[in-house]
Amino acid sequence: DRTLLGLPVLIVFAAVVRAISLYIMTLSNNIGVQRALVDVSNTQYAALIDGDHVRLANAQSGGFVSRFLNDLNILRDFGLQLANVTTKSILTVIGALAGMIWMDWQLTLILLVAYPLALGPVKWLGDRVNQRARRSQEQAGEVTGLLTESFQISRTVKAYGLEAYQKRRAHEGFQTRARLWLKLLADKAAVDPILEVAGGVAVAGVLAVSAWRIFAGAATIGDFLGFITLIGVATPEVRALGKFSALAQEAKAAAKRFHDLLDAPNSILEAPNAKRLQHVEGGIQFKNVHFAYEAASPVLNGLSFALKPGEITVLLGPSGGGKSTVFNLLLRLYDPDRGQVQIDGIDIKFLRLSDLRAAIALVEQDAVLFDDTIAANIALGRPDASQAEIIAAAKAAQAHGFIDALEAGYQTEVGEGGRRLSGGQRQRIAIARAFLKDAPILLFDEATSGLDAPSDAAVQSALRTYAKTRTVLVITHRLAVAKRADRTLVLSDGKIVEAGTHDSLIKASGLYAEFAHKDLQTS
Ligand code: ADP
Repeated sequence: DRTLLGLPVLIVFAAVVRAISLYIMTLSNNIGVQRALVDVSNTQYAALIDGDHVRLANAQSGGFVSRFLNDLNILRDFGLQLANVTTKSILTVIGALAGMIWMDWQLTLILLVAYPLALGPVKWLGDRVNQRARRSQEQAGEVTGLLTESFQISRTVKAYGLEAYQKRRAHEGFQTRARLWLKLLADKAAVDPILEVAGGVAVAGVLAVSAWRIFAGAATIGDFLGFITLIGVATPEVRALGKFSALAQEAKAAAKRFHDLLDAPNSILEAPNAKRLQHVEGGIQFKNVHFAYEAASPVLNGLSFALKPGEITVLLGPSGGGKSTVFNLLLRLYDPDRGQVQIDGIDIKFLRLSDLRAAIALVEQDAVLFDDTIAANIALGRPDASQAEIIAAAKAAQAHGFIDALEAGYQTEVGEGGRRLSGGQRQRIAIARAFLKDAPILLFDEATSGLDAPSDAAVQSALRTYAKTRTVLVITHRLAVAKRADRTLVLSDGKIVEAGTHDSLIKASGLYAEFAHKDLQTS
């Protein structure tokens, strides 16, 4: 009657409640794990981007990026497994074990001795899986690097007809990938059968002992069936825990890599009582600076020079002579091994890093553009600049004309790395950004080499105006630029070997005169 009617309703109600709570639990577990993952990612990224330039430069490789992402995936899987599956498995196994002990502690003992015998091989397999996973991960990084590279250099590939060469390299990468993956899979797949056999052996043992005891009248068939049922409940959970322990191993390795990254000491540190650098005049002094990237090959050998505001100075010399290194030291991406780099008479080691870098505007040889609009790319020089200031900077950099001619003007998206613009256009946007920054010190690395003669001349004259109150240092290999400069420093073998104006250097008939002579012959 009423109870009979009520029962189905109750069952449906219970099922619905269970389903909803399961859904909510899964969802909240996932949300928790994803949040934790975002935190981990942020912390890692901050440690990298705030840390040493050298480390960032090394992290550019496909291998690093792919490992970084893979490690996050492992941690996510681990977190989700832990939250969604493992607690349930552990509770089930404990419950089943308690039931078994309560039913028959002797049988349980047999089981507990027999089953772990299988865990030896499983553990050994687990170690092998870990090693293989690591190798597979490294190789995944190599393939990522290969792919990225081959898409970036597609013009050279086409021009030299290197498609077959590239396909061969890619094929090798893909094939190795497949081979490593299969080996990994083979090892992982062996875990289940081993546990299966161990389970079978354990059940057979239980069966044999039970049969013997039932014959002896010490147990009933009912006891035996109950016991076997509990084994059936516990076995899949034990297996799940076996798989989880392998994942836990991987997660431990991933977590260690992240920790190593966080713990890696930075070598470029701010002094404890770092001085503020305000109202910068812009005087620069290198005092007997020695520097080597690698101890065995010194780059700067007692470099000394002084620059003052109001002048454009050119740094010229054979390639590999250390010109870009001078910029690296000024920006304090590296510290000198000996000697001092000073700004306004203060060793830059004792300045706040942010103040030091705020005092310098850099235009690199390969203009750096972000995947954003032209306006945004220029505004990165000074985020609070007005639209009028952005346009003024673009005009000075000879960029306004071509930007204005674009359909979307300053709102044009430049694409990844600025690939929708020409090399010369990219350079002019980078120059506009530097002009907008309006820093007391301006560093130009071959920045106008991609410009046509009229634009080049116009940028040079803007530079002249800019330099009236500021310090400008230009790396170039072009005589025309050196001729217009106030002074040229000739850097060779990590030292200044000559310094002076174009005329005085020609008269001195040294390295500069030789260079000028060759330049005249070729142009
Ligand atoms: P330049 O700008 O005059 O062409 P650089 O300052 O770029 O010369 O380089 C000077 C020397 O330092 C070169 O021999 C170069 O190989 C080496 N070098 C430059 N950067 C690095 C680096 N990050 N690691 C190791 N060696 C470097």
